[in-house]
Amino acid sequence: LEPLYSFMMRVRVPGGVCSASQWARMNALSDQYGNGTLKLTTRQAFQLHGVLKRHLSATIQGFNEVLLDSIAGCGDVNRNVMCNTNPHESPVHEQVVAVAQALSRHLTPRTTAYREIWWEGQAEEVTEAVDDEPIYGHTYLPRKFKIALALPPYNDTDIYANDIGLIGIEENGQLVGFNVAIGGGLGMTFGQPETYPRLADVIGFAALDDVVDVCEKLVTIQRDWGNRENRKLSRFKYTIDKVGLPAVVAELHQRLGYALGESRPFQFHSSTDAFGWASSPDGLLHLTLFVEGGRILDRPGYGLKAALAEIAEFHTGEFRLTGNQNLVLGKIDPTHRARIQEVLERHGAGPRAEQLTAVRRDALACVALNTCSQAFAEAERYLPSLLDKLDAIIRAHGLADDSILIRMTGCPNGCARPYLGEIGLVGRAPGRYNLYLGASHQGDRLNKLYREMLDENGILSELTPLLAAYAAERAPGEAFGDFVVRTGVVKATVQGLDFHA
Ligand code: SF4
Repeated sequence: LEPLYSFMMRVRVPGGVCSASQWARMNALSDQYGNGTLKLTTRQAFQLHGVLKRHLSATIQGFNEVLLDSIAGCGDVNRNVMCNTNPHESPVHEQVVAVAQALSRHLTPRTTAYREIWWEGQAEEVTEAVDDEPIYGHTYLPRKFKIALALPPYNDTDIYANDIGLIGIEENGQLVGFNVAIGGGLGMTFGQPETYPRLADVIGFAALDDVVDVCEKLVTIQRDWGNRENRKLSRFKYTIDKVGLPAVVAELHQRLGYALGESRPFQFHSSTDAFGWASSPDGLLHLTLFVEGGRILDRPGYGLKAALAEIAEFHTGEFRLTGNQNLVLGKIDPTHRARIQEVLERHGAGPRAEQLTAVRRDALACVALNTCSQAFAEAERYLPSLLDKLDAIIRAHGLADDSILIRMTGCPNGCARPYLGEIGLVGRAPGRYNLYLGASHQGDRLNKLYREMLDENGILSELTPLLAAYAAERAPGEAFGDFVVRTGVVKATVQGLDFHA
């Protein structure tokens, strides 16, 4: 008798843009075949949890019918392409989304194997197999590959944490191209200091028409130069640190046949989401909802999942997944505003970000236990109760409205980008965490290990005096991550190679 295997399925959403019919289908599939919840990931994808092996085909065929897929949700290829979520700031943001979607299409594996295996009996059933991979070749990449786009001043996709980060450059109201950053990646392994998180370096400017080709060439450099002997050292960041950034840039220019331009000036102010209602010049409305831990569910007194399912029946705009695990109801017809508000309030799921401490609102947690096999400790299920205790400290010091980025993961793989947390908590063992401090609020400086193997009491007793000192002694406008570096609590991490120093 075969064990009762169940699976996590990751459904990609390029640029985070999902239609109402796609949302409705994912919602229904989570009830029919999953555990009744939907997880919004830190890479703007859906996760379905608890799908039994015998239901895999039906689930995949279910989301395929609304043009969603799980191709490249995993594997040694380019993953879901992220894009920041500010539909109210159109039209330039819409152009950035279009580039994200074009990149996603271009770097999707061409093989028909996925469709051959899962689409049998569907209208698009494959009649002629294709195995040619013009970009990935016979061996695909040495490891996963990640791309994110952002339009300053918002860095809500944490572009420096990606193999390629693209920073949109706007001139006279038009998107003219992107600054290109390469070599980001946050995973590491405990006890192996040769592994480390690293932030991407800006290497130049690519014009709008060139950016897809630039990304393709960078992917092929990693394909050809990446480490295929040790998967722990096979991400693009290690390739770059092994051969040196100038060598990679020179190779890129040679493969392109031209050099990238000088990078253009830009500034990021924040990596968080802007909650609540907003309007755009086209007269449409947008509502960013706080989703704790990215988990769409119903529980007594709080029916977010039911409310969103009801809204999907009449909402003519979009459901946008953010890189911070939240959700934007985008492009809302103004005549639907009152109805959306009524549905959310009737289900106890109305906008409530403003009632929360900013720390809770901006916190990230990966799934960890009991779903992820890599996890040493809890994250998503535990962080809310830790925040209950931290909230009391934060409110006592008058910091309720101060955004301090807390990121928690169950292992050092980095899925909730803990090394970009002003406070990073990384699971070492059940109930024990390493505490990292000192990342920047804009996502452009890594944090540093401060204490190891803390239990909850340890975490609270370490953070309490630091938060008190921050409240009393910070400079005007100074972020917590900058404060702990300025006051010498931790040394600034300048680049990945000195993360462990
Ligand atoms: Fe990722 Fe580790 Fe969290 Fe699993 S436990 S989701 S691998 S960070």
